[in-house]
Amino acid sequence: MSIDRFIAWFVAKNSSRCFTFEEGSPVRPPSAPLRPIQLYIHIPFCMQLCPYCSFHRYLFEEGAVRAYFRALKTELRIYAGLGFRFSSVYMGGGTPTIVMEELFGVLELIDDLFSPEEVSVETNPDRLDRDTLSSLARAGVKRVSVGIQSFHDDILKAIGRYEKYGSGSVLAERLEEVRGTVDTLNVDMIYNFPIQDRSMLEYDLKTLHRILPDQITFYPLMISSATRKRMEGIMGRMSPGKERLFYRTITSSLTSIYEPNSAWCFSRAGSPMIDEYIVGGEEYVGAGSGAFGLVGGAIYANTFSLAEYQQALDAATLPMKSYKAFSRKDMARYSFLMSLFGLRLDVDAFKKRFGSSLWRLLGPECVFFLLIGALRLNGSTFELTERGRYYWVVMMREFFTGVDNFRDMSRIAAGL
Ligand code: SF4
Repeated sequence: MSIDRFIAWFVAKNSSRCFTFEEGSPVRPPSAPLRPIQLYIHIPFCMQLCPYCSFHRYLFEEGAVRAYFRALKTELRIYAGLGFRFSSVYMGGGTPTIVMEELFGVLELIDDLFSPEEVSVETNPDRLDRDTLSSLARAGVKRVSVGIQSFHDDILKAIGRYEKYGSGSVLAERLEEVRGTVDTLNVDMIYNFPIQDRSMLEYDLKTLHRILPDQITFYPLMISSATRKRMEGIMGRMSPGKERLFYRTITSSLTSIYEPNSAWCFSRAGSPMIDEYIVGGEEYVGAGSGAFGLVGGAIYANTFSLAEYQQALDAATLPMKSYKAFSRKDMARYSFLMSLFGLRLDVDAFKKRFGSSLWRLLGPECVFFLLIGALRLNGSTFELTERGRYYWVVMMREFFTGVDNFRDMSRIAAGL
């Protein structure tokens, strides 16, 4: 078995264990930590549903969206009442910008309740215009992340985004037009589509070099077991060998101008930067239907059913459906994975957090990754090497596939 496959197998096995919640286990609401943490908010609505997407999302229906935002505000007020403080907020989806007026209402409430230092919002290309982005900036949004996926028309057609958002050249024009409207504009790209060859990837990279967005996040295609069949029916089977080759092409192309700030995120030198909320393995609260949280050594998942979400908040209770306390070793592994995904891990800070040294808690993992050349020790900091970055992409791909599989199971359990 190759190293890549062994690592993928190990992480897939562990994520599936971590995301297996005991049936009917009681959910213990989290207590507010002493210091401010991060907040993730999920808006599960889209105008159309993309075939490769494993996120928790529903087709747009205005009444349902407005009711959802009302319930979400109640959830945020409950967290404020429990004493939670948030230093940064990340709104993802689905499509957070689906009804701008509702989004502005929530942003205003977030500011009143928590005054976070950083707010990041995901959007789709149909919102890429100067007026929309300037109004988001005025509402306190520092980073806007837009899902582009590819500039190549054959890929856009295959994934159903050509009709939805226009051709690759239209997307490129919009990105050029909105340059400078927010502190950080992040462009989400995907590689390793089954129909993608090297020249298509190079076309995407050439277009990015022309536009030069502040930040680029380049994900490998990740699909849950349930979505795989549908995706393979449209585009054929994925190739893991191509993924490694494409990752090398991407890193060597982008690092001439960009600095990596995680295994798959690249920022322009001097650009203001906000990491994805999971980087670093810090605690966070998940608000919204289907959102996850990690607080006080336990993982929480909110209900995936909109009706249940609404009912819980009408009764002024948190809409949590699943809960699982992690062992100290699981938490240490999670922190190891996420810190090094952000390229470095401070060994002293790790010891302070877990009350035991990294070597004592995760000795075999450290030795393994040092031996295969994925890590190097620089003083009291573990750093990810260039080779290690791809191994971390493999691990994160498997971790998120585990999350996607959990989402699929939860949606089925909720009768969706
Ligand atoms: S890829 Fe984005 S726009 Fe498409 S269904 Fe998924 S969340 Fe919605």
